[in-house]
Amino acid sequence: MIVRLKELLPGPRHFDLRFESGWWEVVNPEPDGQVLGLDGPLKVRLALSREGRYYAADGSLSGSVRARCDRCLEVYSHHVRSRFRLLLASPLPEPVAGDSALLEEDMSVEFLSDEEVNIDQLVREQLYLALPVKFLCHEGCRGLCSGCGANLNYETCTCPVPGGHPAFRKLEQLKVKMG
Ligand SMILES: [Zn+2]
Ligand SMILES: [Zn+2]
Repeated sequence: MIVRLKELLPGPRHFDLRFESGWWEVVNPEPDGQVLGLDGPLKVRLALSREGRYYAADGSLSGSVRARCDRCLEVYSHHVRSRFRLLLASPLPEPVAGDSALLEEDMSVEFLSDEEVNIDQLVREQLYLALPVKFLCHEGCRGLCSGCGANLNYETCTCPVPGGHPAFRKLEQLKVKMG
């Protein structure tokens, strides 16, 4: 969806959006492997308003993505929830006294090539920003055995564990002694 910013009135314009699973394939035509798609609808609330020489986009998103765990490679549902606020400027604005007050430290300004904002692209970027650097199906995921590839969440294997953490080796020795 394209919103023409010139047509925005000073007051905020609210969007209550819902992106269905198929949306991901449209905005992300080159699958990158980590995120396989949306898991159920992504709900986005967005308010666009004029603030001086900028346009502000305030919003929140919530939903789930189908992601691949970095440790065990299983696909799981990863919940995403975030709030965002960004400023849009078009074209590159000249610094004007008073404007700097708007620009808080952690605020990003996005420069538009024309007076339009592509909502799909904006939401996709915010969704990416809300994703973790490392996907874990759960905190204690044990991952795959580097020897035989067994998923250690479901099975134990008999591979020796060479070069494990020294603390664990010590624990093993202790167990042997006690046994
Ligand atoms: Zn995992
Ligand atoms: Zn193994």
